[in-house]
Amino acid sequence: MSNPYLELDKKIVSEIYTSTEPMDNLKVLCDVHGSRFPGTPGDLGSVKYMVEKLKEYGIKDAYYEPFKIPGWKRGPAKLSITSPIKRDFDCISLPHSITGEVEAKLVWLAEGAVEVYEKRKEEIKDNIVMVSSANPPGAARSLHRTEKFMRSILAGAKGWIFMNQYPAYGPQTGGISPIVPSIGICYEDGMFLTRILERAGEVEVRIKTTDKNMNVTTYNVIGDVPGTLNSKEYVVVGSHYDGHDISQGAVDPASGAVVVLEIARVLSLIKKDLKRKVRGMCFGAEETGLFGSYAYTSMHSDDLENIRFMLNLDAGGGAGRKGVTLHDHPELEEFMKKAAQELKSPFPFGHRVGPYSDHWPFYLRGVPCGSGGDIEAARTTQGRGYGHSRYDTVDKVELENLWKAASNYSRFLLRVANSDKWVARRKTQNEIDEFIKKQGYNETVQLADKVKEYVKTWDEIHPDTIEWINRKGDW
Ligand SMILES: [Zn+2]
Repeated sequence: MSNPYLELDKKIVSEIYTSTEPMDNLKVLCDVHGSRFPGTPGDLGSVKYMVEKLKEYGIKDAYYEPFKIPGWKRGPAKLSITSPIKRDFDCISLPHSITGEVEAKLVWLAEGAVEVYEKRKEEIKDNIVMVSSANPPGAARSLHRTEKFMRSILAGAKGWIFMNQYPAYGPQTGGISPIVPSIGICYEDGMFLTRILERAGEVEVRIKTTDKNMNVTTYNVIGDVPGTLNSKEYVVVGSHYDGHDISQGAVDPASGAVVVLEIARVLSLIKKDLKRKVRGMCFGAEETGLFGSYAYTSMHSDDLENIRFMLNLDAGGGAGRKGVTLHDHPELEEFMKKAAQELKSPFPFGHRVGPYSDHWPFYLRGVPCGSGGDIEAARTTQGRGYGHSRYDTVDKVELENLWKAASNYSRFLLRVANSDKWVARRKTQNEIDEFIKKQGYNETVQLADKVKEYVKTWDEIHPDTIEWINRKGDW
């Protein structure tokens, strides 16, 4: 089989494998600019750095686009057991937790399966729920933290504890909605609490949080490698750049952001052979609610029909094979097979859609999209390990993985941009709605509406909650 891109492939691959550029960028993003959490100095600092880098790569009109989002600032949090013994535990607030104090009975829901909240409603009402980050065994779909949180609130919980399922990784963070004091604790302390609960039958705990919800400005970085055809059609490759505030967010997401920069660098070097524009993007504020990608699809809504394909590389430079999970595009099967043969590198592909990263707002608008990763390995591995903990640090990322990712994805995108018989089909609103319903993803959306209605009936509502209830729009 002949490979029409062989000469370009050689150029791209040799350029990537003789450079440490992505690792150099990763160190600056993480060690200089820290978590890059929305609204922090490192947020703007990292964005300016990425724009400068893109300019250095020959993309002179690279820029960043600001937008306002609901931000959050962490304060110290405290968890104490008040009966039958007294003891304090290390804990962290979950992003968007309100400031507050609550003392009540502890209700342990283990992995928090869908049915358990309704079943144990009497116990949960006015008490403090503790739930593990693990997916319920045998669950047909993955149950996200936010769904466990919303279901707990609907059952009447007045405080929420999220226990890391992984030993020795400390507490895990992750956004929730500003309704009750909400914290994360490590696996070991969670297990200790469950043992006391088992022995004593009843345990009282107190949560105290001191966080601040406020609006902040954050950014999307945009850098275009132009195509030679005078075509409106273009390709997007993106990764979010924001990490959680307690973390360097090195694998998730910085390893993906630096791969996007590297793709922009090498495609820029071969741009006279690139037919259609490839837009490199680094999205802000993914972790706290996909704000950057919602902002982009909303601010550029009149231009979305021109996107041929969107590739999301969230955590794209982590370990594993560098394939593409298409968000349900069987019509691209032939194209993918051919690309995989030509790349001469492991390139697993398949079809699956989930709502928890920046491809999602594009998917909802019918843009053909996919995400980097290994769909075959994803079937057997579960959860995030040190992700969303303070242990997601630069030393977890390997240059070889950044090379593999940049090499596969830049060459894949070259083929997407240059294909003259591009068959990816835009989904209709009907198809999207049907899919969401079939997967049960509408549950989460409907849950938020239900929770808003329910919370309105409370005697006392926190001002941050009122602000959240009245919030309009996607982001
Ligand atoms: Zn991520």
